[in-house]
This record gives sequence, C-alpha cells and structure tokens, in this order.
Amino acid sequence: MKSILVTGGAGFLGSHLCERLLNEGNEVICLDNYFTGQKSNVVHLMDHPYFELVRHDVTAPFMVEVDEIYNLACPASPVHYQYNPIKTVKTSVMGAINMLGLAKRVKAKILQASTSEVYGDPEQHPQTESYWGHVNPIGPRACYDEGKRCAETLFVNYHQQNDVRIKIIRIFNTYGPRMHPNDGRVVSNFIVQALQGKDITIYGDGMQTRSFQYVDDLVEGMLRLMATPDEFTGPVNIGNPGEFTMLELAQKIIEQTASKSKIVFMPLPADDPMQRKPDISLAKKVLDWEPAIGLDEGLKKTISYFRTII
Ligand code: NAD
Ligand code: UDP
Repeated sequence: MKSILVTGGAGFLGSHLCERLLNEGNEVICLDNYFTGQKSNVVHLMDHPYFELVRHDVTAPFMVEVDEIYNLACPASPVHYQYNPIKTVKTSVMGAINMLGLAKRVKAKILQASTSEVYGDPEQHPQTESYWGHVNPIGPRACYDEGKRCAETLFVNYHQQNDVRIKIIRIFNTYGPRMHPNDGRVVSNFIVQALQGKDITIYGDGMQTRSFQYVDDLVEGMLRLMATPDEFTGPVNIGNPGEFTMLELAQKIIEQTASKSKIVFMPLPADDPMQRKPDISLAKKVLDWEPAIGLDEGLKKTISYFRTII
C-alpha cells in the first residue's frame, strides 16, 4: 500500500483521482482549500478507512510522510482563475515550491498537473511536447498559463538540482461528472444551458476548436505516467485528439439532450486560443496510452450526471 497525497483532491479531476487511487488499494490524503472544489465531491469516500481529507492552502507549507504526490491544486476554469489572478499565480508557483520541498524532504515522487495552456494560442498544430508555446505574458490568461509554465520550470529545476523524482503531465480539456455547474467551462455551460432550456452561449463565431477528453481516460494516463521509470519525467500530453468546433459541440449537446435551447453568439474573450489538439505520439509510445472514450459516449455520461443535479 502506498501513501499518496492529492492536492486539489476535492475538485473535479482530483475527486476522480482519489477514488481511483483508493480502489487500487492505496492510502489517500486529499488536501484542498475548497476554492473551487467541495466536500460533496468526495463525501462518498469519507467512510473509506484509508481516506483522509485535509483543509489546507498549498501556498503554505504542508508536512506529511507520503510516497507519492499528485499536485492538482489550482482553479482550472478561466472564470475562476481570473477571479483573483494574483492568488492563481501564488497557487501555481508557491504551491509547486511547497509541494516540491515536501517531495524533496520525504523523497516522494511528484506529478504536476500542467496544461495544454502552456502552448497558449498555438502556432503549431497539433501540439507536440517540444513546442514552446505562444503565450501573452500580460494577458488575462497569463496568471494561469505563466503560473503553470513557471511550475514546470520549478519541477525541472528541483529534478536537476535536487534529484527530486518528477512527472509532468500536460492535460488537454477534460470533462465529466462532478464538473461544477457554474464552472464556466464550455462543456458544463452548454449542458446546463441545454437542460434548463436556456440559450446556448457560443463565444465568437464558434469556429474555434478544442479537443475534449473524458475524465476516466485522463486518470488512467496519470497513473501510467506516475508508474514510469524515474528517468522519464515528461512533459507528456494527455488528451483526446478528436477536434471539434464549439459550434459542433453545441449541436451535439442540443441533440443528446433533445433540448429546445437556441444558440446565441457572444463576444470572444481576449486571447481565447483559436485551436487546440494534442499530438499524443509520446503518450502512446511511453505509456502505451490512448483515450478509450469518444466525445459522444463521454457526453452521454456527463449529461446523465448533470440531470441528477439540475
Ligand atoms: P477544479 O477547479 O475542479 O479543481 C481544482 C481544485 O484545487 C479545487 O478543489 C480547488 O478548491 C483546489 N484549490 C485551488 N486553489 C487551491 C489552493 N491554493 N490550495 C489548495 N487547494 C486549492 O479544476 P480541475 O478541472 O479538477 O483541475 C485540476 C487540475 O488539473 C488543475 O491544476 C488544473 O490546472 C489542471 N488541468 C485541468 C484541465 C481540465 O480540463 N479540467 C486541463 C488542464 C489542466
Ligand atoms: N466557450 C463558449 N461558451 C461558453 C464557454 C466557453 O463558446 O459558454 C468557448 C471559449 O471561448 C473557448 C472554448 O469554449 O473558446 C473552451 O472554453 P473553456 O473555458 O472550456 O476552456 P479553455 O478556453 O480554457 O480551453
């Protein structure tokens, strides 16, 4: 049995990760400050004898004896990470320093939840891990993008300077049950709007693209990356290469929910990336990983979940 710390464990992705790690027979310590996460995401795990929930903010140091750390603490939706941009940078950067310091002290292996946002509004398509990105350092998305980029730098520096065993995963847009209904991200927004019969809000002309992966595929990729030999640090892209415009996504959701909602067009937020699609050759080669759940199937599961809470 391994002892595993999951920061941001009460969030959307963290709660699925905690559940999977417990099912695999590990002891899980879930740390969260409940900024965008909530106890209700992990309440079904509370009776598990090897699950512990701790209220803590990663911008402050945390001491615990663990074998592995998954560092997920950070708001992920543009609406939430732009609410308090300074705090977002602190969470990414100081959170990384504190968790890397902990990993160094207790000799734990540590995985950083990085993001496709490190590629910014990419000029290379699809994006490979060797692409350096196209990020506006002073734009509204910078607190998140640059915070995550700096966290990657810190991970690599702690590895090179202090021999900390690190893994960096670059996560592409992920969706599934337990996304917050007011999260502001596109999949949850469209599903909630469709189920409530409200207008579906497309920002811009809806021709921008994203690649959406279902949460179970991501969690599988995370576990596989953590299990790789110490020499492999990443970064590695984990995402579903299926690429859809926001208009296509809206149409799929309207169809699957049999909604009467109509589509409306609203201004495109500043610096909104025009396209995004992962090249997953590295994940296939090193992790023998590829996504198993397509968008139609994943949306069906996600819509079922939202029907239970709306
Ligand atoms: P989420 O907002 O549901 O989860 C983030 C969790 O971190 C929340 O529970 C929140 O309360 C917690 N948190 C935030 N600041 C904290 C702090 N200072 N101290 C302790 N806890 C804090 O978002 P998510 O989609 O589950 O994302 C989880 C991680 O994955 C994030 O690091 C995010 O950047 C990364 N990621 C997510 C996606 C995606 O599409 N969902 C894509 C790329 C990267
Ligand atoms: N988007 C949209 N309507 C919404 C929410 C988002 O058209 O109600 C668009 C947004 O402008 C972006 C895409 O959907 O082009 C994905 O947005 P999201 O916030 O989910 O993720 P990110 O931009 O960080 O990839």
